[in-house]
Parts: sequence; structure tokens; C-alpha cells
Amino acid sequence: MQQINHYINGSYTHASKRVSLVFDPATGEQKANVSLASAAEVIDAIELAKKAHVSWSQISPLNRSRVLFKFKALVEQNMDELAKLITGEHGKVLDDAKGEIIRGLEVVEFACGIPHLLKGEHTEQVGGGVDAWCVNQSLGVVAGIAPFNFPVMVPMWMFPIAIAAGNTFIMKPSEKDPSSVMRLAELLTEAGLPEGVFNVINGDKEAVDTLLTHKDVQAISFVGSTPIAEYIYETASKHGKRVQALGGAKNHMLLMPDADIDQAVSALMGAAFGSAGERCMAISVVLAVGGSGDLLVEKLLPQIQSLRVGNGLFTDMDMGPLISAQHLEKVRGYIEKGVTEGADLLIDGRQLSVEDHQQGYFLGGCLFDNVTPEMTIYKEEIFGPVLAIVRVNDYTEALNLINDHQFGNGTAIFTQSGEAARHFCHHVQVGMVGVNVPIPVPMAFHSFGGWKRSLFGPLHMHGPDGVRFYTKRKAITARWPKSNQTKAEFVMPTMT
Ligand code: NAD
Repeated sequence: MQQINHYINGSYTHASKRVSLVFDPATGEQKANVSLASAAEVIDAIELAKKAHVSWSQISPLNRSRVLFKFKALVEQNMDELAKLITGEHGKVLDDAKGEIIRGLEVVEFACGIPHLLKGEHTEQVGGGVDAWCVNQSLGVVAGIAPFNFPVMVPMWMFPIAIAAGNTFIMKPSEKDPSSVMRLAELLTEAGLPEGVFNVINGDKEAVDTLLTHKDVQAISFVGSTPIAEYIYETASKHGKRVQALGGAKNHMLLMPDADIDQAVSALMGAAFGSAGERCMAISVVLAVGGSGDLLVEKLLPQIQSLRVGNGLFTDMDMGPLISAQHLEKVRGYIEKGVTEGADLLIDGRQLSVEDHQQGYFLGGCLFDNVTPEMTIYKEEIFGPVLAIVRVNDYTEALNLINDHQFGNGTAIFTQSGEAARHFCHHVQVGMVGVNVPIPVPMAFHSFGGWKRSLFGPLHMHGPDGVRFYTKRKAITARWPKSNQTKAEFVMPTMT
């Protein structure tokens, strides 16, 4: 059985005492054991990363960015292998796995511009003979904790900017699909990254809690479910760290009666069922305004019924399995709950059977109609291929529903009315908004983040907020007076 350990100080370590099992979700077979780090092993990694920070932070930004240029080329050369590692443990289809690598690489490309991004501000002559300027310096050791659903892209939202800015990094991937980020660590070493600058610790709560409380970890970036995000934010803040903790979602599409229905349905199919709905930006609710619901159902039914669900390694699949047997049971439980609470289950994906993959964690696309805001399947994140239609009378009712929801990650309006779209963009209480764009994920040079219970902390991830998060400002005020011009001043200094 393959054993996955940790990658610390530029090489693999021995196995830890405790392990967790890694499965191929398409077959249900165990693929590997992954080590779960003890607190002592995490502390060793923190100390090595702290030592590495001393020299890494003194390397010029230009030379740090040159390592990332090489890393980008290596990731591109190894794209197929990385995509297979993702699919083999996560289950998503290969092209989708490649898509997530490319979206991650865009952050590497952004981080390659770090010499420009780190430039401070300078004001000459703020007072007589006095100049003032501001520099952005690295924090030290910073850590990232990632979810299972984007094993490459989410770590790449974090570490490229962090290390480009001169920090050293400890990555704690999901214990469900750790292999692809281990490969990224090897590629960073191959690109010339010095030992100890990027480290991977595999583990569970024990490893995470050590990162959250250790005095030498300066900042925590987290992406995962809302209860854990809130815990991470509270615990790490209490221990004096900067925190950005991104949580769960329930993303609504607001479908206006004037929308191009074919365009909206195509967009919806990918947004609801891509990656088996296991995306934090997946659309899981459609608010069908006015009479738009009937036509929507008519157009959606045949498309959901013809979804190709199977092993993500096979060509021409639309959807792979869910991540684990437990998650499959949880999603099936939500479907049951939707039925008992009175929603109309128009397509029941539980009946799906995938040939030669009887033990895989598959679920077909599901469609609920006449869902109401009181139902559990409306209020909670399901994180599976389950789409809910809520019928609403008008635009205002739809907007209020979105604004009243506990989550505020992403949303989209589909309409041909510029006036409605503009009103929506201005008034909706959600962090990322699409206009006729179903999954409005910001590009790497903008920042990614939700509102309400989808994000804890003031700064979003990557883009300008990423640079802010991983650097601290220092403001310097300087004067070079002649020695006979100095005298004691006892009043608040003002510049003249
Ligand atoms: P999760 O919260 O279960 O796990 C995320 C990370 O936290 C993992 O590394 C895990 O090992 C660790 N963890 C789990 N329980 C812990 C505990 N009790 N104490 C300390 N650490 C713990 O999330 P997941 O199931 O891996 O990922 C799916 C969730 O992530 C969904 O809710 C999804 O919406 C969310 N997500 C959000 C975004 C976003 O940008 N907002 C992006 C991707 C995923």
C-alpha cells in the first residue's frame, strides 16, 4: 500500500504514528495511507520554516519571482500527471482537473510580478528636509489549510504570493486527496526553491491546532466548511495571528423572465453539476422569477437526464463520483429530507448505477422543484449534484431571499435588462456577482472571497488582497539634519 508522508525542508519524511486512508472514489478502493502529523512533527516543520525565512526573505524579489517562473513551466510540463493525481483521489473529470491547475497557475503568474507588487510608496519632502516612505515586508512563517475539493487550485491561491513576498509556508492539504500538492512541493524544489521555504504537513485536527496556536506562525489562510472556518478564525485570532478563513456557500442564480433561457440553462448545467456540485461557487439554487420556472424545468429535465456520470479518468464524462462514502450518504440524506419536507423531486440521481463501478461513490444529477426557504435543502449547503428551484413572484422577492441567506459567496443574475443587472450588482449582499456569468470566480489579479458566513476576516484571497495579507507595512520618516539644528521638542511634532 502506498504511504504518503510529509514534505519538509525539501524532502520526504518518515511516516507518522497515525494514518488516514485515501480512496479512489470512482472504485471505492483504498489507494494509500496518509500520515497524520503529531504536534511535535508540526513544531519541527515550523522551526525549519522559521530558519529558512531568515535567508529567503533576504533574497531579492526578482530572484524569488524567477523561481516561480521556473515552477510555472514545470507545472505546465507535468500537467497530465498532476491532473491524474487529482482525479484519482478527488474523482472530478480530467479536463476539470486541468482547469483547476490552470486557474492555480494564474496566481503563480500574478505572483511572478512580485517585484512590482511589493513596491512601497514614497513621498519626498513631507516636511522641511523630511522624506517619508512605506515598505512591505514579509511576515515570517505562514500556513495554509485546504479543503478536498480543489487540491491544487486552493493551495495555489495561497502559497505563490506568500513565498514570492518572502514568507516561508506550511501547507496542510485535505487528508482525503493529498498527493497532488505533494507533487507541487517536489516541483518547487526542482524549480530551485530553497529547503524549508515550502513544506507540506499532512494531518487532521492535531496538526491544524498546532498551526493555529504556535507562536511562530504569523498568519493562517483557510478554505473549507463554515463551522471549521469559524473555529479557525476564532482560535488563530485569539493567538494573535492574521486570519482569512473562507467557508461554505449556497449560490443562487436569479433567473429573470427576459433571460435567454437556452443560454441560462447551458450555464446552469455546468455550474450546478460540474465537479458533481462539489464547488464552493456551484449554483445550487435557481430563483425562477415570474413564469420562468415552467420553461426552465422543461429545458433542464432532458439535459440532467443525459448527464454522463462515470469514472473521471474516462473520456467524455460530465461528472465523476463524490469524494467519499460518508459524503455520498450525507448528500443522499439531504435528498430524503427534501422529499419529506415536501419539495418535488423531479429527477432522483440515487437510482444511478455506473457499470463496473458498483463500489464507487456515484450520484446522478438531482432536480428539486417548488423548494421553499424554510426547507433544509434550501438553508444548508449540500455540496453535491442537487439543484433546487424556488419559484418567486418578482425580482424584489428573489433579491431579498439572496440577501437573507446565511451564505454570501457567489451569485448570478441572468437577464437582458441592464437596469435589473445594475440594480442587482449594487444591492446584492454577496461577495462575487455574475451578470449572465454563472460562476463569477475572479481572475488571479483580482481577489476571491465571499460575504456573511462564507468568509471570516477582512481580506479576500489572492490578487491585491493576497499581497496585503502576506505582507506587513512599515512606514519610515527620515531627516538628515545638520548637527547644530537639533533641539528638544516637547509638543506633538507637526510638519512645516
Ligand atoms: P472541511 O472544513 O471539512 O475541511 C477543510 C480543512 O480543514 C481540511 O484540511 C481538514 O483536514 C481540516 N479540518 C477538518 N475538520 C477540522 C477540525 N475539526 N479542526 C481543524 N481542522 C479541521 O471542508 P472540506 O469538506 O474539505 O471542503 C468542503 C467545504 O469547503 C465546503 O463547505 C465548501 O463550500 C468549502 N469551500 C469553500 C471555498 C471558498 O472559497 N469559500 C472554496 C472551496 C471549498
